[in-house]
Amino acid sequence: MRDAELAPYAAHSAATRGRLFPEDPPLYRTEFQRDRDRVVHSTAFRRLVYKTQVFVNHEGDLYRTRLTHSLEVAQIARTVARAMRLNEDLVEAVSLAHDLGHTPFGHAGQDALNECMRELGGFEHNLQSLRVVDLLEESYAAFRGLNLTYETREGILKHCSVRHARELGELGARFLERRQPGLEAQLANVADEIAYNNHDVDDGLRSGLISLEQLATIPFFAEQLAWVKASFPGVAGQRLSREVIRRMIDVLVSDLIEVSARNVAAAAPQSIDAIRNLAGPLIAFSAPFVEAQRTLKEFLRVHLYTHPHVRKMTAQAQETIRVLFAAFMADFDCLPADHADRARDGQRTEGSAGAARVVADYVAGMTDRFALQTREALAERVQ
Ligand code: MG
Repeated sequence: MRDAELAPYAAHSAATRGRLFPEDPPLYRTEFQRDRDRVVHSTAFRRLVYKTQVFVNHEGDLYRTRLTHSLEVAQIARTVARAMRLNEDLVEAVSLAHDLGHTPFGHAGQDALNECMRELGGFEHNLQSLRVVDLLEESYAAFRGLNLTYETREGILKHCSVRHARELGELGARFLERRQPGLEAQLANVADEIAYNNHDVDDGLRSGLISLEQLATIPFFAEQLAWVKASFPGVAGQRLSREVIRRMIDVLVSDLIEVSARNVAAAAPQSIDAIRNLAGPLIAFSAPFVEAQRTLKEFLRVHLYTHPHVRKMTAQAQETIRVLFAAFMADFDCLPADHADRARDGQRTEGSAGAARVVADYVAGMTDRFALQTREALAERVQ
């Protein structure tokens, strides 16, 4: 969408706060289209196809990966953005980039790496996504990282600890001053939630670890299930469950658009900076749908994420991260040569925290199967 077609409080390409390394504006694209394209061309983006959400990559070909998750987030966010005349290119760029910093093995991997880094500066996946686009991608001759706009980087950094916020200057200030990001950033964040709650229900059903009967104990799910059964008598199996999920996404997105539009109308912001200075977010659900999302999330936590089968995978995944981290820290020569050099540099300048950051970057960048292969290769090396 061109700037002239956008709402006054949307992020406008011509009014971007710019890039860390100044560049001429693109000829045929907006600034945010350029950001999106850089994300799509990045190595970290391609790796998302072999990184998992809940199930480990080799468990089946049909489960969500971080790549398909990111695409689903982008689809949902774009729908809402277009309906609200927000910047669709920007929400797409943020959605596609938001998980670039994720470790192998989903949240389990992140927790394990955070544990390894506890005394060494910590590990936050959100911050890591920013590190990837600011520093770690090596694709351009003129600068490190992808050199994205402020607005895309603002959207990627959904949350971060106070300690890290202080180190991030302007980008981190909102976490210290309790201000908001622009509406596109708020939207990508909520679209992420809608996407994972619903696709995890789908993957959970597909895996057989949760059932329709269990899900029907959630009033929000039961309501959609009853509607589908009444509208399509006799429909069963995957067509039934997927129609229910489709409908859940539809009603959540509709509520989000209507409530957010009302919030915006009431606040009457005249610019993206007016949005940033508000006390709370404007992209929001109505109270019953906040509750629906909460119960869905809680159901998944109790019945899927902590299911004994998932826990077993989680434990193995965490063990792999710990073994890799310890092996690399014990002997930098277990790392590829360029990383080993960087780890030695880090050790020299900042001590073990400096070396550990290089190791964490390397481990976080791994795909599930590369992490497993590397663990095997290291075990052979030791023998
Ligand atoms: Mg996500």
